[in-house]
Amino acid sequence: MADLVQLAGDILAVWLVSLTVNLFAYVVVTAAFIHSCRFLAKYKIQEREASPADVRREIKSSLRTVLIFSVIYAGIYFGTRAGVFTIYLGVAPLGWGYMLFNILAVIIAHDAYFYWTHRLLHLRRFRRFHRTHHQSITPTAYTCYAFDGSEAILHGIFLPVWLLFVPMQLPALCIAVTLMIVRNSFGHTGVELFAHSTERSKWFGWLGSNTDHDLHHTAFHYNFGFYFTWWDRLMGTEHPNAREFRKTRWSKAGIRRTEIFSASGTHGR
Ligand SMILES: [Zn+2]
Ligand SMILES: [Zn+2]
Repeated sequence: MADLVQLAGDILAVWLVSLTVNLFAYVVVTAAFIHSCRFLAKYKIQEREASPADVRREIKSSLRTVLIFSVIYAGIYFGTRAGVFTIYLGVAPLGWGYMLFNILAVIIAHDAYFYWTHRLLHLRRFRRFHRTHHQSITPTAYTCYAFDGSEAILHGIFLPVWLLFVPMQLPALCIAVTLMIVRNSFGHTGVELFAHSTERSKWFGWLGSNTDHDLHHTAFHYNFGFYFTWWDRLMGTEHPNAREFRKTRWSKAGIRRTEIFSASGTHGR
């Protein structure tokens, strides 16, 4: 009995730490981007503004995602303690080379996972699980975690599945998770700072831009990738005008949402 009480106490303590860290990360990262974007109005992608009701809805559903992620991350802790996952506390014994390769690999794998699960969520039979995220036509930094509970679980289980096969060092895991939330939140800020140069560069044209994902929120049937453009280009799901939009910043070019829709077909498809 004493053992069970001890175990329940452990689970509660670990979950509370996990909840605090996840909540802190969401609040700090989104607040930083929301605050910064006040000074970046001239780089806004859309002319439309998210309404206060949109923001309230996004924060509410994001808090549910934080709760779900906190349970999954606590599960990673206990899974590691039980020997299901292998996480080294420091860089040793795997070394710096492994760590660098591992961070790159986990981001590339996450991009593939995101692309294909996202394609799945756009199928008619699964679309209802993705509706919460698409209620945001004009995304904000808060949109990054605005998911239905089932979609949050789908995103959250990526790391445990990865860890089943690939040992990680704790610093690499922390860096990868930070990159994920920062890229996710930045990608939803509704401002475009880099697409001009990445589109023109032969070296960085494969990087996904904020414009690409913003277009996904307005045009729905294109640009399913996030970090990189290669899956969309390979599978023919890049928005037909994506390259043009990246070059011009479509709010500045006077391109309106109606024109985006006419380029992408109807919403209900
Ligand atoms: Zn979508
Ligand atoms: Zn989104």
